[in-house]
Amino acid sequence: MQNLRYVGKNLFLERISIRSFLKKNKTPFYIYSENQIVSNYKNFVKTFKKTNPLVCFAAKSNSNVNILKILSKQGAGADVVSGGELLKALRAGIKAKKIVFSGVGKTEEELKIAIKKKILLINCESESEAKLVNILAKKLKKKVSIGFRLNPNVDAKTHKNISTGKAENKFGLSIKNFKSFLKGIDKFKNVKLEALSVHIGSQILNHKPYEKMLKVIDKIIRKSNYNFDFIDLGGGMGISYDNKNEKLNYKKYNLAIKKFLKNHKSKIIFEPGRSIVGNTGFLISKIIYIKESGTKNFVILDAAMNDLMRPALYGAKHKILPSKLRNKKFNKTYEFVGPICESTDKFTSLKDFQELKEKEFIIMCDVGAYGMSLSSNYNMRPKPIELLIKGSKIKVIKKRQKHEELI
Ligand code: PLP
Repeated sequence: MQNLRYVGKNLFLERISIRSFLKKNKTPFYIYSENQIVSNYKNFVKTFKKTNPLVCFAAKSNSNVNILKILSKQGAGADVVSGGELLKALRAGIKAKKIVFSGVGKTEEELKIAIKKKILLINCESESEAKLVNILAKKLKKKVSIGFRLNPNVDAKTHKNISTGKAENKFGLSIKNFKSFLKGIDKFKNVKLEALSVHIGSQILNHKPYEKMLKVIDKIIRKSNYNFDFIDLGGGMGISYDNKNEKLNYKKYNLAIKKFLKNHKSKIIFEPGRSIVGNTGFLISKIIYIKESGTKNFVILDAAMNDLMRPALYGAKHKILPSKLRNKKFNKTYEFVGPICESTDKFTSLKDFQELKEKEFIIMCDVGAYGMSLSSNYNMRPKPIELLIKGSKIKVIKKRQKHEELI
């Protein structure tokens, strides 16, 4: 995150000291950098400039309507996975013709919304789904553009819980079913098969699974001799959450796409989420108590797994920074936990962190993707407020929930 830095002992986000937000805002809260969102999006577009893809931001990674608006203004489309996300993307000003709808279990109600709103593509993940789209389209007297999501059986070499392109995963059609379904597609009079889509997983830092995926698609298209207007390559591009600064080799991925396009005249679609918003968000939290217990030193925060689920769900680690630097180090290990009644309500353990005190604040970094969008009301905890910062201006982009709303 380029816009976060210490000036003297104080942590600044863009041009504002974190301590100054703390005077006005109760913790925990999310804060995002608008400049970083825009610059990530522009960089993504620039990276694939020669391919001229349609970039459909994966709304599941962060579905705040104001963030969708920022991306919409930059020309982004959206990849949605529910009727709710679809309606939100439209509300944010994203054009229907730039929206693709993924997901294994779209309901009749959701499909009807997609058909009526005339979105670009419904990416079907089973034969039954395509049949249902055909029936609904017929009833509504429409011809609907669809894609087939292929499960290419490629290991994305990422965490098993965010791998989606292996045969054992529930997503997409198997290669065998894809081929046989393609042969019978003419039976479906009210759909037009325009796209082949894939998405092999998330937080991918190795370009090789993408190369493999493209080879599988290439082979299938050659054999079937079907011309797809769109090839939707999904998202999954990983970011660096630690100091190792590992990066996906975009150059090699780009080369593989260019090679693929030499033989196929299709428009490429991407569905990036994490790579656009991951490093743009921060969760600010207050230390309620510090307690030594047996062998451990717990730092009990006012943020919990309901606010940021990734550590409990995937064992994800987010960098933690103190809002104010202090020279004194704590030479034991701090375990950062939340107040929820679950042992998995734990963020990370850090050794040699600076000495902390109760009522001080810490910042959890790179929580812009799958942070707030995965949050819940578990333990009857209201969801936190979300703020957006641009230069020296801050605005509220989602109010904190009130207890009354939950009762
Ligand atoms: N497209 C689909 C179909 C997905 O399921 C996901 C997330 O898992 C994405 C795109 C976005 O992935 P990422 O945020 O890793 O780019």
